[in-house]
Amino acid sequence: MPSYKAPIRDMQFLLHEVLGFEDLQSYEAFSEVDRDLADAVLEQSAKFAEEVLTPLNAVGDHEGCTRHEDGSVTTPTGFKDAFKQMTENGWTGLSLDPEFGGQGMPGMLGIAASEMWTSSNMAFAMYPGLTGGAIKAIMSSGTPEQKQTYLPKMIAGDWTGTMNLTEPHCGTDLGLLKTKAVPNGDGTYKISGQKIFISAGEHDMSENIVHLVLARIEGAPAGTKGISLFIVPKFKLDENENPGERNAVSCGSIEEKMGIHGNSTCVMNYDDAEGYLIGEENKGLRVMFVMMNEARIGVGLQGLGQSEVAYQNAAIYAKDRLQGRSLAGPQEEDKPADPIIVHPDVRRMLMETKAFNEAGRALLYWAAKQEDIEKHSDDEKLVEKSDDYLGLLTPVIKGYLTDVSMKTTIDCQQIFGGHGFIEEWGMSQFVRDNRIALIYEGANGVQALDLVGRKLARNGGRALMALNSEIGEFLKENKDNENLSEFMDGLGGAQKKLTEATMWLMQNGMSDPNNAGAGSVDYMHMMGLATLAYMWARMAVVAQAKIDEGSNEKFYPNKLITGRFFMLRMLPMLDAHLAKIKTGAEPVMALEEAAF
Ligand SMILES: Cc1cc2nc3c(=O)[nH]c(=O)nc-3n(C[C@H](O)[C@H](O)[C@H](O)COP(=O)(O)OP(=O)(O)OC[C@H]3O[C@@H](n4cnc5c(N)ncnc54)[C@H](O)[C@@H]3O)c2cc1C
Repeated sequence: MPSYKAPIRDMQFLLHEVLGFEDLQSYEAFSEVDRDLADAVLEQSAKFAEEVLTPLNAVGDHEGCTRHEDGSVTTPTGFKDAFKQMTENGWTGLSLDPEFGGQGMPGMLGIAASEMWTSSNMAFAMYPGLTGGAIKAIMSSGTPEQKQTYLPKMIAGDWTGTMNLTEPHCGTDLGLLKTKAVPNGDGTYKISGQKIFISAGEHDMSENIVHLVLARIEGAPAGTKGISLFIVPKFKLDENENPGERNAVSCGSIEEKMGIHGNSTCVMNYDDAEGYLIGEENKGLRVMFVMMNEARIGVGLQGLGQSEVAYQNAAIYAKDRLQGRSLAGPQEEDKPADPIIVHPDVRRMLMETKAFNEAGRALLYWAAKQEDIEKHSDDEKLVEKSDDYLGLLTPVIKGYLTDVSMKTTIDCQQIFGGHGFIEEWGMSQFVRDNRIALIYEGANGVQALDLVGRKLARNGGRALMALNSEIGEFLKENKDNENLSEFMDGLGGAQKKLTEATMWLMQNGMSDPNNAGAGSVDYMHMMGLATLAYMWARMAVVAQAKIDEGSNEKFYPNKLITGRFFMLRMLPMLDAHLAKIKTGAEPVMALEEAAF
């Protein structure tokens, strides 16, 4: 059975030593949230993840969800109770607005808790995760009445939420969407159509399910300009706003799928269901984007979460499994063979995963801080910068982190040899569960196009310029730190190469958009590598300072060793990506279609 231990020390290092969690106390909303409180939250959340969610991960995988003849869905044994515990402890509202019953903790703390839940049980964590996204969409664009009606119940976890975009003929290209909304004349709408692949679409864990559904109001323009967003509750509300009459929305079937079996992936049928417009007519995508952006960060976190739990188990196994002798001669002569961790190739896989996880975590928590700043600061320039950073880096967090996490999770499975392929060891589940993260919330190739085609150029490239100047300042401040020259040189080189790639795409992407399309995934990876290099350099500065101050905690030299590995063994991938970008579209597009 695989195990999971929340990496609390690493989380504390990031929050308190590297990323300045305590800065947030200067905002009124967080004035009471000090280090002690944050650490207590981390510890309690870890306990819930380790003791309640981890044991249910394999149960969810084996049992899956069951749809009954009446369309109801039962979640795996233990899920309902675990969700009850989660809501009773207030976890569902951890970093949500106290005005509607949330605990009002910073998103930076919320993301650490969510990482633990997604590492310990990704399929389970999707139920509260999607609800969190739906809450943010309602918060951003709901009427005061809608907020009062839905938010307290959803934040408390009494009701959960879903996002309904995909239809059988319409996935990436939402302009093709057909689900119809017909005004009833009283401000409500009749929604009809079919949505597929709806995560947490039907289940037994909450009293009501609040579906956020994209649909086209009769007569609306074709394409993405005619899409509106509706709230469609599973149960309509009675005069006391409690779940009453059943709405005409039902689960037609649940999908048999490769992973995340504990999450119900539903075909949802809307047969003149009653729906309520949220936001303006034909501007539904704008509101849905609030939920999608939230979910994209959440999916990046899923990738990291699976990579982390896979790493932990692979590290334990590599120290335990005896096979072969070290190339440098026997290391454990009293044993019939050495543990496989002596082999450089096993080390390579462990080191790549560890170096990726620790910097990926830093990037995610840093992004969460940007969101906290954006929401709570009254410094307009700072808010603008945080918003720019989030816009630029959301596709990188989603696409790059999940691409790499898939590789690292498979590498960790590889460390188990044949046993990794056998279900009993649990590594197969991590690989299978993680696979979806590269696909949903916009396939990774589409994230890369969003980055290159929209985010880079937005506001005249302001976001990347701000990031470059922040990195430039950081490099200037640390240029004389001789102990860290490998970090600063690596980061400086990454910045130059990224700039070269950006210039190439600007010069060649306009004349032939396929040049941009063919290089976009490489560019997304370059930006991922460069931002992780920035995170590593920041972590290294702190670790070195602690060592210089006389700390003898092993954690700090280990940080430097891991970061140095990233700089020397992972960052050079930048050159390959840059070379590929510069070939342009020609080698990609040359083969005629009939030859495929
Ligand atoms: C388990 C699971 C859970 C899901 N949960 C939800 C949910 O809760 N709500 C919801 O609405 N949807 C959900 N989805 C749907 C998911 O978001 C879509 O499957 C995904 O967005 C891709 O759409 P598609 O499957 O129609 O693929 P398509 O759009 O047909 O794309 C196929 C492939 O073509 C490529 N591609 C397509 N268009 C472009 C382009 N313009 N440029 C470059 N490449 C392109 C991509 O690589 C893509 O992988 C879920 C799916 C699964 C499998």
